[in-house]
Amino acid sequence: ATPTSVMVGSGRAAELGVLFRNGAALQSLAGVRTVAFDKTGTLTEGRPVLTEVILADGVDRALALRLAGALEARSEHPVAQAILAAAPADLPQAEAVETLPGLGMRGRVEGQEVRVGTARLMLREHIPPGPLEAASQQIAARGVTPVHVAADGRMLAVLGLSDPLKPSAAGAIAALHDMGLSTALITGDTEITARGVARALGIAHVTAGVLPGGKRDALAALRENGPVAFVGDGLNDAPALAEADTGIAIGTGTDIAIEAADVVLMSGDPMGVADAIALGRKTMGNIR
Ligand code: ADP
Ligand code: MG
Repeated sequence: ATPTSVMVGSGRAAELGVLFRNGAALQSLAGVRTVAFDKTGTLTEGRPVLTEVILADGVDRALALRLAGALEARSEHPVAQAILAAAPADLPQAEAVETLPGLGMRGRVEGQEVRVGTARLMLREHIPPGPLEAASQQIAARGVTPVHVAADGRMLAVLGLSDPLKPSAAGAIAALHDMGLSTALITGDTEITARGVARALGIAHVTAGVLPGGKRDALAALRENGPVAFVGDGLNDAPALAEADTGIAIGTGTDIAIEAADVVLMSGDPMGVADAIALGRKTMGNIR
């Protein structure tokens, strides 16, 4: 690359709010065939709101939210913020708290072993879904994320967390398709929720329910069709951002994602992905 071309490219990019963290990024963007997206915080606002609480028989709503809230007070996940906003203010202190990336939280609250997270977490903890299973699936089918709350091996509640799409998400996917690119969704969220979101956006390829390492592995399959860009915002996206031919971080996301990426979209607008790739193509065309 001639220095002039890169400078011109970078100046235009700065106007678009696209930051290049290394000089090879424009070139790698020009070759991208598939763009894979994380869901939460990347295509959605990443500020979910608690919209429903389904309780097991005889369970008190305030108790379920207090136990869940006590664990979530120790998490920085967007899901945690949503639960805390609905939980009582004076939460008990949780002990032996563990964060399980892509799954949820575990710990001890008021003498009980509390688990908060995905259906998969409950499975791993040998907690039977019981009568709440149908509710969990119905929540997911509406594109809402079901978060399960259990204490001492018993399911207490399923919380429904709604996370609206970013206004430009559908337009960004359409723009990429117009440029002849394939798109994919790779998320730790449950399959049914992920499919609902993908359908709304016109994304055909979905990999759901994956842990952070699984996000990275999902890229390998997509690579068969050529170089892949991955767009993500979270701690759980760092391995995939590092592995992708071009890692694109959402600038409003976590520092760890930004550190792992080649390109940063400062405003968090997914339309910046199409702008960045168009810029890469144009710049490389100018150089050739
Ligand atoms: P995404 O790929 O959508 O950004 P993550 O991989 O971070 O999501 O998490 C996957 C799923 O794990 C979330 O949809 C949520 O159901 C669950 N989860 C993650 N962190 C927490 C938490 N702190 N509390 C409860 N559930 C969580
Ligand atoms: Mg995310």
